[in-house]
Amino acid sequence: MGSDTQVNILIVDDKPENLLALDAILSDLDATLVRASSGEDALRCLLQQEFAVILLDVCMPGLDGFKTADLIKSRPQSRNTPIIFLTAVDIGEVSVAQGYLAGAVDYMIKPLVPAILRTKVRVFVDLYRQTAQIRQLNADLARRTAQLETAIGALEADIAARQRVAAALRVSEEEVRALNADLEHRVLERTSELQAANAALQKEIAARKRVEAVLRELSILDELTGIPNRRELNRLLRGEFNRSRRYARPLSLIMLDIDHFKDVNDTYGHPAGDAVLRWMATTLGGELRATDRLARYGGEEFAILLPETPARTAFHVAEGLRHRIAAAPFTLEAEPAPLTISITISLGVAGLTAGALAEDDLVQAADLALYEAKRRGRNRTVAFAPALLAARVAS
Ligand SMILES: [Mg+2]
Repeated sequence: MGSDTQVNILIVDDKPENLLALDAILSDLDATLVRASSGEDALRCLLQQEFAVILLDVCMPGLDGFKTADLIKSRPQSRNTPIIFLTAVDIGEVSVAQGYLAGAVDYMIKPLVPAILRTKVRVFVDLYRQTAQIRQLNADLARRTAQLETAIGALEADIAARQRVAAALRVSEEEVRALNADLEHRVLERTSELQAANAALQKEIAARKRVEAVLRELSILDELTGIPNRRELNRLLRGEFNRSRRYARPLSLIMLDIDHFKDVNDTYGHPAGDAVLRWMATTLGGELRATDRLARYGGEEFAILLPETPARTAFHVAEGLRHRIAAAPFTLEAEPAPLTISITISLGVAGLTAGALAEDDLVQAADLALYEAKRRGRNRTVAFAPALLAARVAS
């Protein structure tokens, strides 16, 4: 705004020629001159606008200059408006003092010197303009400050909102982290539970397998002698029989029986009989080839399966066994001294031939030969011959 500021100067004089003169003196000040012809008129003008300076004639009918100045200074809106008193006569020291008491800032005696008056008025005009500029600057500053304060307020609200959001996010992030940790913990717990359950299961399975193995062994082995029992011999025989038939390989079977075994039991008791059976299993087993299979067939009867062996060779094996048993008497631990008991065996031998159609036939053939060995007086080996079968059928 600056120099655009509207500057008004009030000139008050009861004489129109004086007003005209003032008008002429002040016309080049770039200010609006407002004329008032009386004190009352001046006060009316002051109600309507603001003035940079008031030039006030002292001697006027009605309200004179001093009374008018009093009223001007009594109004808050115009209290600071500078007043220059103008008078035609030298009114002396008293009047000057009175003028200053009324709040005037200057005092000029007519006839006025135009250049001096113009200079003095210009000072007030400049002062008014500067004051107006400062006031304007203050207003701008206040407005800018208010705008900044508003902006800062908005910024602070925004920051607070962001902080609230960040805090909320942090909380939910922590919740998610806590949930994850809990989940991982539960997975680990469940995993170790499953591992423990699995380990227990594996242990149980292993224990069952051991039990099964023991049961299986028990079911295939003779309890007294520890060698395969009759069921196991039949299974082995079935396998070897099929293999022999398929590949046309020889297969023989020896059936043997302890001679007069009933006498051993009757004379020395059943425990002695059991000892003889165990000794028999051990001794026979020690004499056999690795591929031959010895089994307790039942009671005092044993069977030996000889794969890849023709009947003639099996006969020699049987004879070897018979001599071995007959040559080494059994020693029974007894009180007061050990007892020596002579034991002999009878043996029947049969080999697989084209005529034998089933494994049962082989067993029956060996059995018939054994029966024949017993019949002929025991402690001997008899090889199966078809004639034995015919004799048996005949009897
Ligand atoms: Mg006058």
